[in-house]
Amino acid sequence: MTGTTSTEPITDGDDAIRRALLDAELPPLLAALAIATDDPALLPGHLRPATINRLVPQGGYSAEQQDEARSLAFAALTAIRDGRLRPRRMSAGGDEMLRTAGFLAGTDAERYLPLLMDELAAPDDPAAPRWQKSELAPDRLFHVVIVGAGMSGLLAGYRLGQAGIPYTIVEKNDDVGGTWLENTYPGCRVDVSSHLYNYSFFKHDDWPHYFSSQDVLLDYFREFADRGGIREHIRFSTEVMAAEFDDDTCTWTVRVRTPSGGTELLGAQAVISAVGQLNRPSYPRIEGRDDFTGPSFHSARWDHGIDLNGKRVAVIGTGASAFQFVPEIARTVGGMVVFQRTAPWLGPTPDYHAPVSDGLRWLFRHVPGYAQWYRFWLFSSSVEGGLPTVDVDPTWQGGERSVSASNDERRALLTMYLEHMFADRPDLLRAAIPDYPPGAKRMLRDNGVWAAALKQDNVELVTDPISRITERGIATAEGEYEADVIIYATGFSASDFLLPMTVTGRDGVDLHKRWNGDARAYLGMTVPGFPNLFLMYGPNTNIVVNGSIVFFSECEAHYILECLRSLLHDGHRALDCRDEAHDAYNEMIDAANRRRAWGASAVNSWYKNALGRVSQNWPFTLMEYWERTRTPDLGDYDPL
Ligand code: NAP
Repeated sequence: MTGTTSTEPITDGDDAIRRALLDAELPPLLAALAIATDDPALLPGHLRPATINRLVPQGGYSAEQQDEARSLAFAALTAIRDGRLRPRRMSAGGDEMLRTAGFLAGTDAERYLPLLMDELAAPDDPAAPRWQKSELAPDRLFHVVIVGAGMSGLLAGYRLGQAGIPYTIVEKNDDVGGTWLENTYPGCRVDVSSHLYNYSFFKHDDWPHYFSSQDVLLDYFREFADRGGIREHIRFSTEVMAAEFDDDTCTWTVRVRTPSGGTELLGAQAVISAVGQLNRPSYPRIEGRDDFTGPSFHSARWDHGIDLNGKRVAVIGTGASAFQFVPEIARTVGGMVVFQRTAPWLGPTPDYHAPVSDGLRWLFRHVPGYAQWYRFWLFSSSVEGGLPTVDVDPTWQGGERSVSASNDERRALLTMYLEHMFADRPDLLRAAIPDYPPGAKRMLRDNGVWAAALKQDNVELVTDPISRITERGIATAEGEYEADVIIYATGFSASDFLLPMTVTGRDGVDLHKRWNGDARAYLGMTVPGFPNLFLMYGPNTNIVVNGSIVFFSECEAHYILECLRSLLHDGHRALDCRDEAHDAYNEMIDAANRRRAWGASAVNSWYKNALGRVSQNWPFTLMEYWERTRTPDLGDYDPL
């Protein structure tokens, strides 16, 4: 199962090919053509990209280098079209692939190559389990319950299916998709490149936009559930209330509320929680919230039954969700007041709403392997992403402005962007410049629509703190802002992992009591005293400036499957994470998070829990998570 389109024969004329090449991302195109035509001359040393930083176009090629790259590609494409060359199908592996990957990712990226080669294998699936339960423990009863049919839960189910392990996914909604099902607000889309935000082994090369919209992603996950044979394992409209571990039998009993409101118990040898971090809307604790007499709703529970046309709308929050829907509804509402507590940094992204150019789509359709090399190219730049710019320099005296010289440089560039956007509105500019270091909160992708919306005559940005919600609207110390509708764009209770489920582990210990508001896990996945309970997108697995969260889920699914393989192979009933491994790991994570902008800054963010500890974020590169999740170290676990 790949979902990948095969390439089409080239029948276009020279002009059409030249036009397509104007839209090409050149370094990965040369890589794909070099492999397809078996011609290393397409990768001359002087066309080795100077950088993989995506902020630098075309890997830093000069105008002359770009011309040369296009000429080389044109010659290869016309040779293929005219039958002078027969393109080879790409297959992963081999020295030639390694050399080509090294050409793109750089010689000092050698450590990354094993990971990158896995990515390049797409649509092949090197991470698929190469074993079957029927070979390891044919007669053993082993059933897994997965909580949630979003991106991670579907993946876990698919992997279990590949290994022949029976499983049931319990999903509280009536469809798959998780966050992409629940968030239907106008303008909802992903802020990671479409060509990265998908499973490495199941992808569509032909994404319509550089950044996919919610409906496209929901369709993608629906298609995956159908084609992956996962849907029939899902119990929809069913909610997990509790899970309890039995010390004697080493099994879990999962209590669910059925669609009819009844209770049912499901037995499981292992439980995988795939409920995500951003699935419980957080409503602000503002006095008078119940007093408002008009309709109100949270952005993640958008009430499409309420017609906002011509209405006075109050929006609380200026995070990623508000940022996307405010420009959409600003055009049709009668008036809008946006309440901003903390200004977001904006990352200039001109193509944020843009359709993938015709030329690039043409190249994906006609150049064997180009989609894979393009993805590889995006992926290599995201392994570290912007991490170096959020690294705290302990000698740097930047206060709340910046955490290092390079962070300060970033700040200067981003401030210039804001100055440009709000040049004609000094009042808005003052409000728009954040007073915390870049990277301390999620940066929001912007192509100018935010400033344009705030500048509209019918839109007002209010930075005075909200004092209370009234019957008629929202009050600050300066006065009352009347509204017909209030929209809470106030985010999620991210650090309340696994709530509201009750999870009881060994010796009757309650998971939430153990955590006491400070959720921690080993590798984000396992918790001492809770054998065979695995968390996906658990504590400290969120990423801020590098990569796609789908990558993390793939690493987690791989690790969990490896744990199950060892259980089935060794005949143990369960694996219980050892305190020492868990504690040492968490100390390391905490120390590293303190050295990142989001840990060093005092700014408020959903990355920190109520105790102020960064409980959400992974502070290292993608490579480090990949390495740590290849093979479980069984010394980290007590077998039961
Ligand atoms: P968020 O980033 O947590 O933003 C919540 C907003 O509400 C913030 O501006 C916050 O202000 C404000 N707020 C909360 N309580 C308030 C109060 N009592 N009074 C005034 N303002 C209050 O939530 P989100 O926008 O839903 O985004 C959450 C995460 O979801 C994102 O960081 C991202 O990871 C993901 N997401 C991604 C996308 C995308 O891919 N494009 C879209 C949406 C969401 P403070 O900043 O002062 O706390």
